[in-house]
Amino acid sequence: MVYENPDGVRIGLEIHIQLNKLKTKMFCGCSTDYHNAAPNTHTCPVCLGLPGALPVLNKKVVEAAIKVGLALEGEIAEETQFHRKNYFYPDLPKGYQITQYDFPIVSNGKIVIEGEDGEHTVGITRAHMEEDPGKLVHIGSIEKSKGVLIDYNRSGVSLIETVTEPDMRSPKEARRFLDKFRNILEYLDVFDGNLEGAMRVDANVSVHWGTRVEVKNISSHKGVERALLYEIMRQKNVIRRGGKVSQETRHFDEGRGVTLSMRTKEEAEDYRYFREPDLMPMRITDWIPAVKETLPELPDAKRTRFIEQYGITDMHAKSLTSKIMLADFYEGVCAKGVDPKIAATWTADVFLGELNYRDLAISSYDGEKIGFIHAKDPRIKNSIKVSDMVELVNLFAEGKISDRAAVEVIRTMLDTAEEKTPSQIIEEKGLFKAEDDLVTKAVAETIAENEAAVQDYLGGTEKSLNFLVGQVMKKTKGTADAKTARDLIIKELKG
Ligand code: ZN
Ligand code: MN
Repeated sequence: MVYENPDGVRIGLEIHIQLNKLKTKMFCGCSTDYHNAAPNTHTCPVCLGLPGALPVLNKKVVEAAIKVGLALEGEIAEETQFHRKNYFYPDLPKGYQITQYDFPIVSNGKIVIEGEDGEHTVGITRAHMEEDPGKLVHIGSIEKSKGVLIDYNRSGVSLIETVTEPDMRSPKEARRFLDKFRNILEYLDVFDGNLEGAMRVDANVSVHWGTRVEVKNISSHKGVERALLYEIMRQKNVIRRGGKVSQETRHFDEGRGVTLSMRTKEEAEDYRYFREPDLMPMRITDWIPAVKETLPELPDAKRTRFIEQYGITDMHAKSLTSKIMLADFYEGVCAKGVDPKIAATWTADVFLGELNYRDLAISSYDGEKIGFIHAKDPRIKNSIKVSDMVELVNLFAEGKISDRAAVEVIRTMLDTAEEKTPSQIIEEKGLFKAEDDLVTKAVAETIAENEAAVQDYLGGTEKSLNFLVGQVMKKTKGTADAKTARDLIIKELKG
């Protein structure tokens, strides 16, 4: 199968990632743990840009950037240096941003995604280090705001800006790219994607191989997909009406789902880039071997290993490795000697499915329990122990509880704060599988009490059988195995 790209869509992304797992900012000792702090409390003369303050580079930023570069299979520059990007805006107290220009630390990388036509490679043009500006807080909406407040807690936090080639051919591919990239970054342990502002995306998009338009500051992966769908439709409409798409920067209005014109795009010369005189160029070739040692097993490699080691399907392996914490949790469960295939089903299909349904995101794993937190309301959080999943998988594997009961146990563990083991929940809710004679008794009663349905079934109405099975389940309070009940009814009526 070859994807023809009928609308000539080309999408490139520019992604700012906050290295929010580093304890301190890029050029000063201020803590990066500001998400629950009062505004302007994590600041100092350096990140406030006060006259005379000089930057001291945090070595960990360079190591993290090398790590990212290696994971993207990119080239790491032998020598790299910082530039000043000049622009005047209140979020930038120095009047310039320390960034990189013509010697980025990483170039020519790639990420392989599942594209429209199977595996698809997206080129990474470059990745460079730069400092985060402060945060503007608009009072009310951005268009009608009466005033703007500035919080410099974010000022000077380390960023890696990654620029891709325009290799994505649909909004779906762009979203898959972002999901994969986030997954890799979390494996590298440099980044927590759950924190606000951790990953900020600008997208370039053109149709019919034409002029590209930039859409700025999209906050979520889903937002990127929506913004691109809208923008592609808008550009196609402009062309259909005989117009021309103009090169411009647009802003995505998340609430209305539309893109709005902001300004014509700046050219690089507008920024008057020049070398940062306060920081020396660095030769970093010697650093690479040590950083390489710290590289973990990456998602694709882990996926292949899971299939081989645990004998699970590619679908399960993909889903289990989509989050490093979930992959570790699954291996923690398997290490206790459970059947890895059954554990994969209950972890990847049921547990993860129920989390997604509740808008819960996995947020921690400490070797004993996996934690999750609500995507929009951080007060809602909970965890499940490895030992609980082990017990559940074993009870199911030994035939002591039904499918339905096992799902019920997982739901209960997600929804209640009390720490109860699966057996306690099963006991309290009476979920143990009904004894065979109890099911046999329920089948006999059901047949005796539902003459009409029995006759319909014998007359060829198949769905009456479902009704009868339903009655048996009701009598046994859902503890019967549905297939057993079904087989028993058929045996009873048709011999
Ligand atoms: Zn500071
Ligand atoms: Mn940037």
